[in-house]
Amino acid sequence: MPSCSWCGAALPPPKGTGRPRAFCSGACRQAAWKERTAPEGWAGPAVDHVDEAALRTATLDALEAELVRAKAAPPVDQLGRAVQEARVLASTFASLSKRVPSPLAWRADGVAVAVREALSRFFEDGETRA
Ligand SMILES: [Zn+2]
Repeated sequence: MPSCSWCGAALPPPKGTGRPRAFCSGACRQAAWKERTAPEGWAGPAVDHVDEAALRTATLDALEAELVRAKAAPPVDQLGRAVQEARVLASTFASLSKRVPSPLAWRADGVAVAVREALSRFFEDGETRA
């Protein structure tokens, strides 16, 4: 049984003549095209020289400052932040679910849906205060 080159779903039977189908739907054809035409990953910053040690130190300093600030914030604010982060995470799962093969896609999509449902159930409209 031929299957979709993008999502792996079984393809509908071929319509007589013409090129055999490679995708189950227009959405899958488009997704495959998008990936084919996407740039080969980010080439990195356009600089001749990067002082990696300095960059690492600066990054660690920034992370540490961020951590201290986050810990110092009132718990209610920290909760608001966690809700925000969970929303971002849900979006990440949702967007990845469109780009990974189907055995993983439905899982990623399920997580996105479940997290969003939990957020809207317990934190309507981003409300984090009692
Ligand atoms: Zn497909």
